[in-house]
Amino acid sequence: MHIGIIGAGHAGVEAARVAREAGAAVTLFSAEDVLPYYRPRLVALAFGHAELSGIQLRPADWYTAQGIELRLNAPVTALDLTNRTVEAGGVTQRFDGVIVATGALPVLPPFAREGSPAVWPLWNAEHARRIRSRVRPGGQVVVVGGGILGIESALRGLDAGMEVTIVELMDRLMPAQFGARASVVLLRRLQDRHIHVILGHGVKAVSADPQTARLTLDDGHTLEAELCLVSVGSRPDTSLALLAGLDAGRGIVTDHFLQTRFAGCFAAGDAIQLEGLARCSMKEATTQGKVAATNLVAFLEGRSLQFYQAETSPLSFRAKDFEIYSIGHPGGVGYEDHLLDGSTESVIRTLVMKDGIPLGVQMIGSREGFDEYAAAVKRGHA
Ligand SMILES: Cc1cc2nc3c(=O)[nH]c(=O)nc-3n(C[C@H](O)[C@H](O)[C@H](O)COP(=O)(O)OP(=O)(O)OC[C@H]3O[C@@H](n4cnc5c(N)ncnc54)[C@H](O)[C@@H]3O)c2cc1C
Repeated sequence: MHIGIIGAGHAGVEAARVAREAGAAVTLFSAEDVLPYYRPRLVALAFGHAELSGIQLRPADWYTAQGIELRLNAPVTALDLTNRTVEAGGVTQRFDGVIVATGALPVLPPFAREGSPAVWPLWNAEHARRIRSRVRPGGQVVVVGGGILGIESALRGLDAGMEVTIVELMDRLMPAQFGARASVVLLRRLQDRHIHVILGHGVKAVSADPQTARLTLDDGHTLEAELCLVSVGSRPDTSLALLAGLDAGRGIVTDHFLQTRFAGCFAAGDAIQLEGLARCSMKEATTQGKVAATNLVAFLEGRSLQFYQAETSPLSFRAKDFEIYSIGHPGGVGYEDHLLDGSTESVIRTLVMKDGIPLGVQMIGSREGFDEYAAAVKRGHA
């Protein structure tokens, strides 16, 4: 039994491990030219707080020892799911089963698509390398996007000795996770560290000057920085899946066994949508990689498949004395927002409820009781 796995991120590497353990021969295709790594550590890598060798998922000899054929720098360019063939680097291979784990891509607003060497998203090791070449103490970085990745980038930039500005289109930080009260505390904490935050404005244009990014905001204001880091979200990478005829809306469509509509083709990780939702979570991608491999082997051996139950993962971020935790609904009109014990000027603990049911919890600066509230929120969503 020979299994081809496309994409060597968290889902793909875990799928390879599990398939190999189950006795399959495994070929793992990676579009990148470096060993698979912990993607969440890219921010540390980009700002010089980690090295690529220190963030690898597995050492090079692990793949050899496991008998996994890892093909780096081998983007899969064609996938024929009727004949189960995969083409990469001009070579076509036939497999008994295939797992598509192509991950996600950063969303790029038009100003970020013009190829300015000062403007980068942060989604892979090459982006981190490009960003790092522009990081220097005393330099300026503008982070476009006030989500968790933007905030981590801002804090890392600050630690690298840079002057940092965050530009967020919405009127509050982390709008997808935080209600107004928690966002205000977050804003205050960033401002206390001399991070400049501009809310309620978007970037309209960026000049293509190779040395400096000159940003024009929608109100005409301009900003200059050696580095503009764009962090405005991600979307499943369905390009290959669509070419191969797989169903893909928000992501590759799978059932609860992580099967696609083609027999013998499973999918896992950020690339998929389940129950109409695309998720972006290392933990879920890893679990899905495991389930997809287990199920593909079971399918090929004619055994019954394991049901995959999607879980709402909490957001958990810690950097020095900066702690952010959230799960569930951010709240707003129509929701009750309860302040929990222990909230102060700089610490916030809120519970979002509707009709007496806990639907979200947000904490900054304190983690006390988070797991219990998160469990209640998960029950509330069930
Ligand atoms: C900067 C950053 C910080 C993050 N922080 C967190 C965090 O704190 N917590 C958390 O849970 N999640 C975090 N995430 C999200 C997390 O990294 C993803 O959910 C996880 O990487 C998804 O794993 P995956 O295997 O589905 O995809 P990926 O890890 O993205 O791997 C997909 C791989 O497939 C490759 N690929 C795509 N197309 C092809 C092709 N045609 N042929 C061959 N290879 C291909 C890609 O190049 C990529 O290497 C972060 C992401 C980023 C970018």
